[in-house]
Amino acid sequence: MPTLDGEFVGILFRQAEASPRNRAQCSWCQDVKLPNDVVFYSAKRSGKAGRNGNTVGTLVCQDFQCSRNVRKLPPPAYEGYDVEAARLQRIEDLQLRAASFAAEV
Ligand SMILES: [Zn+2]
Repeated sequence: MPTLDGEFVGILFRQAEASPRNRAQCSWCQDVKLPNDVVFYSAKRSGKAGRNGNTVGTLVCQDFQCSRNVRKLPPPAYEGYDVEAARLQRIEDLQLRAASFAAEV
């Protein structure tokens, strides 16, 4: 089960059989230099929609490394670039994206 900053996300993910042919970008951490693969996960919607076979899908790091990926300091984009602020921003973005996905399920 993936954890996002200590909070358990109670979603049952199912990895799609076919992985994207090209190196995809993770829709959660949006890391451009991922050390891991990105795969397509689908999750059954909760309640009635799920029982009807309704799923939501997303491209996420294979082993949910997002949390770790966003904690790496990004390369400075320009002189005077605040890498620490950028890092904090990415952590916040990840939490928002994961939370909105969980809300969608
Ligand atoms: Zn990721």
